[in-house]
Amino acid sequence: MITKIFNQKQIKKAAKLIKKGELVAFPTETVYGLGANAFDSNAVKKIFIAKGRPYDNPLIVHIAKKEQLNEIAKISKKQKKNLNKLIQKFWPGPLTIVLKKKNVIPKEVSAGLDSVAIRMPNHRIALNLIKYSKVPIAAPSANISGKPSGTCFQDVYDDFNGKIAGIIKSNECKIGLESTVIDLTTKNPLLLRPGGTDFESLKKLLPNLKIASEKSNKPKSPGMKYKHYSPDAKVILFEKTAKSKIKDFSNKLKKENKSFILINPKKIKNFPRKMFRIFRNCDRKKIEYVLIPAVEERGIYLAVMNRLRKSSSKIIK
Ligand code: AMP
Ligand code: MG
Repeated sequence: MITKIFNQKQIKKAAKLIKKGELVAFPTETVYGLGANAFDSNAVKKIFIAKGRPYDNPLIVHIAKKEQLNEIAKISKKQKKNLNKLIQKFWPGPLTIVLKKKNVIPKEVSAGLDSVAIRMPNHRIALNLIKYSKVPIAAPSANISGKPSGTCFQDVYDDFNGKIAGIIKSNECKIGLESTVIDLTTKNPLLLRPGGTDFESLKKLLPNLKIASEKSNKPKSPGMKYKHYSPDAKVILFEKTAKSKIKDFSNKLKKENKSFILINPKKIKNFPRKMFRIFRNCDRKKIEYVLIPAVEERGIYLAVMNRLRKSSSKIIK
């Protein structure tokens, strides 16, 4: 398949492909998305094939107008209050909200769950693509499943050139990490995945917000159980209590003639935004090990630590 590369002025052309049931990768403020018409189950199936994504990992549906919410989700009176608060403060933006789904959303999107995850991205290209397509767009992160998310055009091109109908070329994503996912279908609102919207700011708005446990056998957010975001290089994460072991570990690698780098998130400006790109660049340079000390889980760094833990081959405590 020849992948068409669109510039920022050709969004209408890209939208035509979405309407035809094809896949288009597009930029958002979080990471690039791999989009399909959310109402078209055949188009949505192509996402899972192109990414090699497990079928039990549901997709986020992207909308451009608040009115589209009622088209795809059932909202109870009780949920409405919290929902309105969240939307008013955080949309458009890096916050995904899980609600009960309506039947127009095919089971492929929700991976068989009776809920649907919805987000309004804060990005002109993404919003216009949805607007011109005239349908909500189901889109996971644009990367081969298990790999670091695509946060710039080159990364998306490397993973999907020849495999999808189109890519809209734009700048590097501003946030560089995925959205925060909140479930409003539960008794108390639950944070399923930390991301671009701070837990602290959400908690101010929803005081009974809890963080979902990742330890349960049946995670509420199916994506949480998979290894994710991993470069080919082995990521070794040193938790706070083990920082003193970094030196010994790197000496051992030196002796074994292994290539490695030490990355200290605190010393890199805008690390959250650059993290996935750094991982991908390590692979381009064929680095075998990436050693990273843990950081305090505050603000966006809660999401950073979540991604680091999931991407790591080994966590040293
Ligand atoms: P990605 O688009 O690759 O960032 O992944 C989407 C994330 O949203 C995954 O962690 C999914 O498990 C989660 N998600 C999507 N839909 C739902 C849903 N209906 N209920 C719970 N989590 C969901
Ligand atoms: Mg993803």
